[in-house]
Amino acid sequence: MNLPIRARLTVLYFAVLGLTFVAFCWICDLGFRHSIETTVNESSRTNLETIGRLLANTAPQGEGSIRTELRDLSSLWANGALLEVADEKGEWLFRSPQFLRASPSLPPLADKNIAFFTTNLDLSQYRVALGLVETAGVRFQVHAAVPTEPFDQALDRFRMIEKEALPVLVLLASLLGYWLSGESLEPVNRIIQTAQQIGAQNLSRRLEVPEPRDELRRLTETLNAMLARIEASFQKIRQFTADASHDLRTPVAVIRTTAEIALRRPRPAEEYRDALSRILETSVETSGLLENLLTIARSDAGAAGLKMLPLDLSAQLHKAREQGAVLAADKALSITLRTPETPVWVRADEIAIHRLMLILIDNAVKYTPPGGRCEIALSQNQDQAHIAVKDTGIGIPESDLDFIFERFRRADRARSREIPGAGLGLAIARWITQMHGGTITAESTLGTGSVFHIHLPVSTV
Ligand code: ADP
Repeated sequence: MNLPIRARLTVLYFAVLGLTFVAFCWICDLGFRHSIETTVNESSRTNLETIGRLLANTAPQGEGSIRTELRDLSSLWANGALLEVADEKGEWLFRSPQFLRASPSLPPLADKNIAFFTTNLDLSQYRVALGLVETAGVRFQVHAAVPTEPFDQALDRFRMIEKEALPVLVLLASLLGYWLSGESLEPVNRIIQTAQQIGAQNLSRRLEVPEPRDELRRLTETLNAMLARIEASFQKIRQFTADASHDLRTPVAVIRTTAEIALRRPRPAEEYRDALSRILETSVETSGLLENLLTIARSDAGAAGLKMLPLDLSAQLHKAREQGAVLAADKALSITLRTPETPVWVRADEIAIHRLMLILIDNAVKYTPPGGRCEIALSQNQDQAHIAVKDTGIGIPESDLDFIFERFRRADRARSREIPGAGLGLAIARWITQMHGGTITAESTLGTGSVFHIHLPVSTV
């Protein structure tokens, strides 16, 4: 059913209520009929008893006085009750006219002392009690009938009220149900209205949390928590875009200004060469930065694009060290590598692991003054591979250790200012280790050096 919740609730309410009312009326009807039958039976039984007493009193005085007494009694009964009495031989001593007109003979009583049946006498319905009365050795057969009409009328009236009142009641109750469901859905409407007003411009807005500790409160709290997460991600994206554009603007401005100044007037070839090599250097830096930005943007999509294959970390580290040695050569730094004799297998993406190692080696080289050392060590401890990249560089203040793995964060900006970098390397390193199910941490002593630890799960295949 594609009906709105409110209509669905009302239909359901209507159906349940209708069925309940019908069942209730049916039970009432049953009870009413049962109680009428009992009352009518009781009434005719009482009449039977009265006749019994009368017969006991008048039987000794002979048949004549029985007849007279019965006639008098019959005329005294104001509520239309009838009676007929026969003696042992089946001869009538008295019959109310309706009995006379209706049935000529009494139905057999069998061996029961009293029995009830319903019959039509002279167009009306009667409940008849049949009884055997024995007095002074003489047996009489007695019929005492009570008209059922007044009771039937009461039952009819009751049924009519049911028929008329039931639909009206169900309708009224359904209308009430419609109104009630509207009332209880009102908070949901308020949530919808507020939610519709929340957009990128006012993500800090929250839904009003209702007082009662119910499902709606849980819903609003869940939506609010979701909004908080969306806001945080949005904030991150904003920050990322702002930082990225800031970091890109500077090198582009350098390239542009260098070219403009060089072209302003004719210059000797030497000056052009200088300008071009500055432009080239800055472009190389910029393309590195762009590469990092793209990796970071891609990292938000998860591990997609990584090809996880069995990889010997020892061999990888040897390759990385060779490249790192080229970087270190200019600064007269030594790079050493210690690996176990047996291969250390991990399931990893070769390009990503190479990148990770180069980021760490590049940092070690960048932040270590000339003449320093960079030591790389690989070891395996049960199911964990451990890579340590240690340098004798400037170190990182303890307070900065917590955030150097975040995007665009650089420790102690004043000190790193003259060292190029955008603060993306370690964020990429952390993403790569996480995608391989590993961890990366840093330890450092200012002025003495830093160690970066990477733990990766060893592959069993
Ligand atoms: P970048 O080097 O481009 O600034 P990274 O994310 O690689 O960005 O590093 C973040 C910051 O961590 C650096 O700016 C630097 O302050 C600090 N850092 C990283 N590696 C080292 C290191 N080996 N020695 C000292 N500081 C480091």
